[in-house]
Amino acid sequence: MILQDLKIPGSASSVLIIDLEAIKSNFTYLQKKVSKVEVGVSIKSDAYGLGAKAVGKLLSAAGCKTFFVSTISEGMDLREILPSSRIIVLNGPDRDSSKMFVENSLTPVLNSLNQIDIWHKETQQNPNNLSYLHVDTGMTRLGLNDKEINKLFSKDDLLNDLKIEVLMSHLACAEEANSQKNEEQLEKLIVIKEKLSPLIGSVRTSLANSAGIFLGSDFHLDLVRAGAFIYGLNKKDSGQDSSKPVIRVFAKIIQVQEVDSPSTVGYGATHEISRLTRIATVATGYADGYIRSSGQTYKKENKNTAKVYFGNMSAPIIGRVSMDLLTIDVSDLPDHLVQPGGYAELIGNNYTVDDLAEVSGTIGYEILVRLGRRHHRVFVGGDGI
Ligand SMILES: *Cc1c(COP(=O)(O)O)cnc(C)c1O
Repeated sequence: MILQDLKIPGSASSVLIIDLEAIKSNFTYLQKKVSKVEVGVSIKSDAYGLGAKAVGKLLSAAGCKTFFVSTISEGMDLREILPSSRIIVLNGPDRDSSKMFVENSLTPVLNSLNQIDIWHKETQQNPNNLSYLHVDTGMTRLGLNDKEINKLFSKDDLLNDLKIEVLMSHLACAEEANSQKNEEQLEKLIVIKEKLSPLIGSVRTSLANSAGIFLGSDFHLDLVRAGAFIYGLNKKDSGQDSSKPVIRVFAKIIQVQEVDSPSTVGYGATHEISRLTRIATVATGYADGYIRSSGQTYKKENKNTAKVYFGNMSAPIIGRVSMDLLTIDVSDLPDHLVQPGGYAELIGNNYTVDDLAEVSGTIGYEILVRLGRRHHRVFVGGDGI
């Protein structure tokens, strides 16, 4: 068992193991897949909850030159450890932050006429600053829409002194390989690129996130922006290549007890005991990011709840997920696998982030970014980074 080799302190109630070797291997896999196209890595939200500093250092050493964050403050934090990487801030500048982009050599994505205007003013004093231009091709979230793109032609002085390095857009349905929308967005981006070329010259283009990479090489353009795949997320039956799993979560078994009917388990008494039942109580809850919808929320609700592994055998959550605790029906498991002081495996190779997400009505991304601060974190692999 991996935990024995890791020198876990006795005070740790739960352990999150992050495999840096797997992260690196997922990055190099993608780099091979897209061949000469650049792989930029999305490291926003603290590298999807796994630790932007560790992941940034690791992937920079593995050859990644471009990192994407969402906010200016994420960019400033990352700049401290990556002095010469290209750091792109997806949410772009506003009046209060535009100076900090210059001071920290962060590259803004310009998402609207308003942001172009702000950056234009900022760069009049600092003429060498590059930026990305984001045009909307069907997401309607960030990026210049058609009206705004047309306005650029009547205000062409706006773009005059701006050095646009990359023209980018974002796919709405990249995980649905058969969606018409993917081709439509690709075509639209290429049309916009042609249309804008008198204003911005020849620029590199970028459209694909992780799932977009597997739509085919047409979607790779000059730069892909990968996140999910790097962090080990996989969509079942998607036909996409699978990435190596990156995390495991273990939590201590606090108590094991046998109860008989009539009795109920947990808040709201949502689970009624109908047979002689052995129950393990484990030290993790929604405060640790094990979301409440992984358990049984309502009385008489007949839903699948998340599974927990003890050794190589699984058992279901019963009752509600509490803030700090889970209750699990271990009646069908041999005693020696479920002992107080031992560990239960909440996420791992048996039961992946995506498995847990599916039964909980969410996506793997949300499970990752919510992983709690209380887990004792251990990085393995990655040559001591
Ligand atoms: C988060 C993000 C990505 C990365 O998406 P994944 O699905 O995690 O690969 C790429 N581009 C943009 C604009 C993003 O916001």
